[in-house]
Amino acid sequence: MLLFELHNADVRYNGRQVLANVSLSIDQGERVALVGKSGAGKSTLLKLFYEQQRTDAAIVPQDLGLVKPLSVFHNVYMGRLHRHRSWYNLVNLIYPLQHEKAAVKTVVDSLELGEDMLFASVGELSGGQQQRIAVARAIHQGGRVLLGDEPVSSVDDHQSRVVLEAISAAYQTVIIAMHDVSLALAYSNRVVGLKDGRIVMDQAAAGLESTDLDFLYRS
Ligand code: ADP
Repeated sequence: MLLFELHNADVRYNGRQVLANVSLSIDQGERVALVGKSGAGKSTLLKLFYEQQRTDAAIVPQDLGLVKPLSVFHNVYMGRLHRHRSWYNLVNLIYPLQHEKAAVKTVVDSLELGEDMLFASVGELSGGQQQRIAVARAIHQGGRVLLGDEPVSSVDDHQSRVVLEAISAAYQTVIIAMHDVSLALAYSNRVVGLKDGRIVMDQAAAGLESTDLDFLYRS
């Protein structure tokens, strides 16, 4: 099933073209890595995809979008606010319900965030922990597709793999911008390379070597 489709998409910011003539279709079940240098247009492309599936896409934005004074539990639970009526959300935000706590804890555990931090304020945690909380919120949300904008940029290699495994277990369809080429190849089945706002590569990940992507990073 077709989930995303762009035909000759152009995006300009203040008259400057940042995406040019982008045509791309993505089907359910695909695991797409978006690769390319900083400024190539990956975030802008993810935003176009998000606009096409707002109600069914979970997103891990680059700035994470966490509410820092609130706890890990509250931030992760926010992924499911839309599933419940406001009175239920209000009760659960004030007196977290056992089964909601258990559900959040399961996701938090899967990302190797200790359960002792469930009620810590997110603002007190490290950048890598915060990044995993934003991923936890997207996993908890569920939906048809996860869109991730550099969701492992602040964690080490082991944690990157933990995060990408958890995402893969939770979502059949993912589109993730990643700067680590070997992780991109390991956790995707399709690699879309951007350079100066254009798609210059769109290939199956199988059979590609990291060095095949080097040209994307040359100026
Ligand atoms: P990437 O995610 O690959 O780093 P982006 O999509 O964030 O690339 O950015 C592509 C280009 O668009 C960059 O040159 C960036 O400076 C510019 N850009 C992104 N967002 C804005 C914005 N809101 N206003 C103006 N320029 C922007």
